[in-house]
Amino acid sequence: MLFWTLAASLAAPALVWAQDPYAGKREHMVRTQIEARGVRNPAVLDVMRRVPRHLFMPENVRALAYADQPVPVGYGQTISQPYIVAFMTELLAPERTHKVLEIGTGSGYQAAVLSPLVGHVYTIEIVPELARSAAATLKKLGYDNITVRLGDGYKGWPEQAPFDRIILTAAPPKVPQELIDQLKPGGRLVAPEGASVFGQELVVIEKAADGKTRKKSVLPVMFVPMVRGPEKD
Ligand code: SAH
Repeated sequence: MLFWTLAASLAAPALVWAQDPYAGKREHMVRTQIEARGVRNPAVLDVMRRVPRHLFMPENVRALAYADQPVPVGYGQTISQPYIVAFMTELLAPERTHKVLEIGTGSGYQAAVLSPLVGHVYTIEIVPELARSAAATLKKLGYDNITVRLGDGYKGWPEQAPFDRIILTAAPPKVPQELIDQLKPGGRLVAPEGASVFGQELVVIEKAADGKTRKKSVLPVMFVPMVRGPEKD
């Protein structure tokens, strides 16, 4: 019996890897890039092992899917480095009841990582082609608690506000007050912030029960800038 259990537990990963040739690469990515740099939240590590990152990128760059770097997804945009996705997700401290707003859908990968950890993800993308293809990818892969909207993230999503958590994956010069206003008391926002590509900081803004906010910088980062949309949306 002991032998059978052992054999079964050895066979299980092999079976998974046979079905998904990328599972081994993801395991390696999690160990060497993410755990090694200090991300510890087991739910975050688990989801990073499971989300098929390669399916969120165009075929010509899929070989880079699990490399320790950001990957271009077209229209001058990139999917963040796996470590940064995991670290920002951990900083967000997501919970299963949370309503989350993401600014910068891009490929949809970060939204997919958040999906099993929260109640619902509302995500806004300003480039129509990216919004359309991310929505199609997420639908095809069966994510049913993510809503993608084409629009300008500077305005947030007032119809769905307030949010427990807000994450920006494009960098504004300064986190827009409209977004802080759409955060619940007790809520938390994670964003890259900075006027130029060099000199951005990853910041965490916490809103206390009395509505007061506190901001701390946690890491120098380099994100694509958050662009301004037309005044009318
Ligand atoms: N989260 C994405 C990566 C995003 S890259 C992923 O997991 O793939 C940043 C994205 O922000 C780009 O797709 C860019 O078009 C978008 N963006 C830039 N300015 C924006 C704005 N004002 N509102 C919404 N999206 C914006």
